[in-house]
Amino acid sequence: MGVIEQLESAPDGHRRLRLSNPASFDPVGEFEVQNADDVNAAIERARKAQQDWGALSFEARGRIFRRAARLLCDNEEEFVDVIVSETGKPRIEALATEILTACDALQFYAKRAKGILAERAVSVHLLKTKKLRICYRPLGVVGIITPWNFPFLLSLNPTVQALMAGNTVVLKPSEVTPFSGRLVERLLADAGLPEGVFNLVLGDGETGAALAEGEVDKISFTGSVPTGRKVAEACARRLVPCTLELGGKDPMIVCADADLERAARGAVFGAFANSGQVCTSTERVYVVEDVADEFTRRVVEETAKLRQGMTGEFEVGSITWPQQLEVIESHVREAVGKGARVLAGGRRNPHYEGCFYEPTVLVDVNHEMQVMREETFGPVLPIMRVRNEDEAVRLANDSRYGLNASVWTRNKRRGAELARAIRSGSAVVNDCMITYGVTESPFGGVKDSGIGQVNGEIGLRSYCHAQSIVIDRFGGKSEVLWYPYTARKKRMIKRMMNLIWGSWLGRLIS
Ligand code: NAD
Repeated sequence: MGVIEQLESAPDGHRRLRLSNPASFDPVGEFEVQNADDVNAAIERARKAQQDWGALSFEARGRIFRRAARLLCDNEEEFVDVIVSETGKPRIEALATEILTACDALQFYAKRAKGILAERAVSVHLLKTKKLRICYRPLGVVGIITPWNFPFLLSLNPTVQALMAGNTVVLKPSEVTPFSGRLVERLLADAGLPEGVFNLVLGDGETGAALAEGEVDKISFTGSVPTGRKVAEACARRLVPCTLELGGKDPMIVCADADLERAARGAVFGAFANSGQVCTSTERVYVVEDVADEFTRRVVEETAKLRQGMTGEFEVGSITWPQQLEVIESHVREAVGKGARVLAGGRRNPHYEGCFYEPTVLVDVNHEMQVMREETFGPVLPIMRVRNEDEAVRLANDSRYGLNASVWTRNKRRGAELARAIRSGSAVVNDCMITYGVTESPFGGVKDSGIGQVNGEIGLRSYCHAQSIVIDRFGGKSEVLWYPYTARKKRMIKRMMNLIWGSWLGRLIS
């Protein structure tokens, strides 16, 4: 049984989908797939609402999101219920990684957007007769397309950033988790967001494609590399910007001087949190051979303590999307076929009918295996022994992905040095995954992991166009470069060049 089931189409031709809980297969709900006409109508509503919304002060916008943060705190159980029913994740994970982080995003941008996006004067180094001001203008209507692994946070967070910057939004959440998208809609409406400012469209790839092809001014996409490419192509055709937050194959480097207890516990959390369905999951480990046996022993010991389930207290929930389960199985099967050894897990959990895969530890892996090269997006931790840190960095960089990475060492300076040597959008020393949770930190990948960044100052500004306004200061009758062009003017320009770039005094003042 699949988690999404196609039903008979509605009389008006709209397809209908039925969702069930991936852990229990209990029904979750039905929804209609919205088509290009519905998407265009939503964009139109957003367009109409944008001018008034963009004209509001940061304080007025911020008040709505502060209210939303309070509502979210007060009603977290209801939100968690919906998220858990669609994803199969533990309630504590839904609370900590979707609700708490969403409260932080709401409050952070409500409070800080004004400072980050305030119009500012910039001193001009050469053309002293000019003043420069930079204004962060909203782009207009932003289309946001999101995945199913953190369905509430990844929908709400870019939405708040785009809205605080003065844009209006059309959100298309994943068809696997549409009801978390509805939570965002309800929360913002209850907090008092004016009509038309936020618009939800539900559906699958067809709806997402219609949004990417629609008359929006930017697409903020989070999802897989193949879909990201399609979205980028659609944006290129329309010459609008896009931010692509895509997949990862994040490496973890364990140095000989690492605190092995912390590193092993970090590896287990980094690989198995959210059942490994995190873009910044620890997807492969390179451990220096001096400590490889001890590190691996501790990882296996920690893994054995994990409880998998769907009710009560447990650490590891279900896989959210049955197709993902097939990817996970195929990676493990291929690795074992090529000589990998399974030290824990390595199979679907036989105690459950739902989409459960056991936390899995593999050794004797190499870069000939998909499990070390392709995004597994499941609870699988392959550990590879390396001679030294240099080899670890070389292998970490031997990947088409570059999202996040972690380095574990007691020497923090050396840790930062190794982090710099890894080609990734971000990196962490002696912790894992945490980058997205550090709200000030820009987040986004390099190589196939994406284009552009969300979060922090850089992310917020990416929802704006930085308009420069150059103002003449003294208003003389003419400028040096204006007509007529004469031999005398040419000599004057040459003398000025010699003065500025040909003398020590000029170099000093320029
Ligand atoms: P996906 O690419 O299958 O789907 C993402 C969204 O795109 C969904 O809403 C889907 O309906 C929509 N879509 C599908 N076809 C489309 C098209 N042709 N045009 C426009 N939209 C379309 O990804 P997924 O399986 O939902 O999510 C898992 C992936 O997301 C993993 O690769 C994971 O690493 C990545 N991810 C990245 C980040 C990040 O911040 N870098 C965060 C979370 C997840």
